[in-house]
Amino acid sequence: MHNCAGGALARPPGTPAAWPNVFHDQFIGSWKKALLDVEGPPRMIILGWGHRKTKNVGPVEKRNCPNCGNTDYWELHRLKDYATFFFIPVIPYKTEHLLVCPVCKAAYEVSAAELPGFEAQARQNLAQLR
Ligand SMILES: [Zn+2]
Repeated sequence: MHNCAGGALARPPGTPAAWPNVFHDQFIGSWKKALLDVEGPPRMIILGWGHRKTKNVGPVEKRNCPNCGNTDYWELHRLKDYATFFFIPVIPYKTEHLLVCPVCKAAYEVSAAELPGFEAQARQNLAQLR
């Protein structure tokens, strides 16, 4: 005798039979409509990667640059890569810190272990400059 209710894939009691379809039609369906069907023809959504914002956090310490030979206060730079939606940076997905020679812009990656110390130095030096 075949008995569907006893099988491993049986619906738990009380679950409405059609809820996945209802969910799809009411929510996902309306989102699709909002994004694609407004004013008739299908619309293009432009998503992008790699929009980069750079911030000079502050001067850190005097170093001799192996690239240009000058000795000056190297700067801590914060680079953030954003995912874009219609060319507007929306979600940051990658952050990098670099130590940059102020003369020739040679840059060296800052490790996670070094970062807190450099950030503290940059803050201190900026406070003294003000
Ligand atoms: Zn340099």
